[in-house]
Amino acid sequence: MAGEKILIVEDERAVARGLEYGLAKEGFDVLWADTGQRALELAHSRDPHLILLDIRLPDISGFDVCRQLRAEGRRQPILMLTARDEETDKVLGLELGADDYVVKPYSLRELISRIRALLRRAYGELAKVSRGERLVFGDVEIDLERLQVHRQGKLVFLTPTEFRLLRYLASNPERPFSRDELIEAVWGYDSDIGNDRTIDVHIRHLREKLEDDPPNPRWLITVRGVGYKFQK
Ligand code: CA
Repeated sequence: MAGEKILIVEDERAVARGLEYGLAKEGFDVLWADTGQRALELAHSRDPHLILLDIRLPDISGFDVCRQLRAEGRRQPILMLTARDEETDKVLGLELGADDYVVKPYSLRELISRIRALLRRAYGELAKVSRGERLVFGDVEIDLERLQVHRQGKLVFLTPTEFRLLRYLASNPERPFSRDELIEAVWGYDSDIGNDRTIDVHIRHLREKLEDDPPNPRWLITVRGVGYKFQK
């Protein structure tokens, strides 16, 4: 796949220009928004494959942009650009439906490898499923073809990342996975970047959405000293 549309949302012109240049050189089709409002307009009119989203914008924040796009049901990968050591920013971005974050200052090479991994898992081999396949546990049904989850017959909204994580765990019941293994399988890259929090936040969301008693989960189990497993 080549020429994917990437929307850069960044108000600092010099930073945006650098990103634009670097991404265009890699063959991406680059759009740029310097405000949150403009980002929403471009997301609607141009339907980018992936959005690089800075948090501090002059009008509405990157968080608001993310929240709104997900509320509209837009599912393209969102990669947040966060300031160093802003732990709350990282977690909040994921809470609002971002797929991942990179911490400033990042290298262009790291950013591009994240972008490629996110695109691969959103549109490539990992996104493919066979027709009509479903996984059922308790009152939860995962429709692998429509990428939907129902609980007690009602549609549950999962972000694309939550969906992939759930699908991976539920497809391999009873097997404990480390956070690194999950990152690699679900996110598509090595996890020597310290994104353990990413997994924990997504697991917590899945529990809140799917478990009767989220603090005492029935399905998505913490395996002490290892990571997580799906208990049948
Ligand atoms: Ca900014």
